[in-house]
Amino acid sequence: MDLGIKGRRAIVCASSKGLGRGTAEALAAAGVNLTLNARTKETLDATAEAITKAYGVEVKTVACDITTDEGRAAVLEAEPAPDILINNAGGPPPGVWSDWGRKEWQSAFEANMLTPILLTTAVLPGMIERGWGRVVSITSGSVKSPIPQIGLSNGARAGLTGFIGGTARAVAKHGVIMNNILPGQHDTDRIVSLMNARSKNEGITVDQARESAQAAIPRGRFGTAAEFGSVAAFLCSEHVGFMVGQNVLLDGGLFNSTMG
Ligand code: NAP
Repeated sequence: MDLGIKGRRAIVCASSKGLGRGTAEALAAAGVNLTLNARTKETLDATAEAITKAYGVEVKTVACDITTDEGRAAVLEAEPAPDILINNAGGPPPGVWSDWGRKEWQSAFEANMLTPILLTTAVLPGMIERGWGRVVSITSGSVKSPIPQIGLSNGARAGLTGFIGGTARAVAKHGVIMNNILPGQHDTDRIVSLMNARSKNEGITVDQARESAQAAIPRGRFGTAAEFGSVAAFLCSEHVGFMVGQNVLLDGGLFNSTMG
């Protein structure tokens, strides 16, 4: 399917690996020029080089921490007029509710709530002026179905979801479409660290943790970054002109419900 976004310009945050990279690749395959970001320059440059070689699109890189004011300013300086913004950052550490005080909550809010809110707020005026824009925020299945071990994620991302839900409805008439994707378990470095934590907490091997997690998913396996990226790129396409403020759950059927 032609996504109708060839030649558009996208900022893809936290995109040297995992879901961000999967999204960057799918956008590049649709002919979108990219500004990629991650903290580690070497991995970021290697990803940019691989994408340029595979898809022939223009790829800029900004090695910085997207959860800081300086990091966000550097990314916006590299791409001041994006048509597409993919909000993403690393997830908070797992634990239990009694582990988390003000400091831990502040960092979760900065990374998974304030950072995407501030980036969205920065790019919206230009998108509105140009009459076209797409903002896709990578949140988590934990927004819909809370996971006790990642309470910081449950809380911070729920706040972001509230902001996007309201703002999506305020800007839709200008041709700016904002939706969220709620990943369930995808086979990336993030899942490796969560499975390591589970193996330690439950006194089982990492392989056992992976097997039991995958067995609980109706699809019978973790998702892939490529599957995730294809859905994200679709949400950036011309075809979603009437899809406003939705939360798309990609979890292999894990959340059990008759509707949504
Ligand atoms: P990942 O495979 O660990 O990749 C994370 C990417 O983000 C890397 O490129 C990393 O590069 C970059 N990054 C991390 N912190 C950053 C920061 N502060 N500034 C800039 N770049 C940063 O993780 P993932 O699985 O793709 O997860 C992406 C997001 O989805 C996370 O918020 C995660 O919690 C959420 N999520 C994932 C799953 C899943 O199953 N994978 C499920 C639900 C939610 P550097 O380390 O070099 O910065």
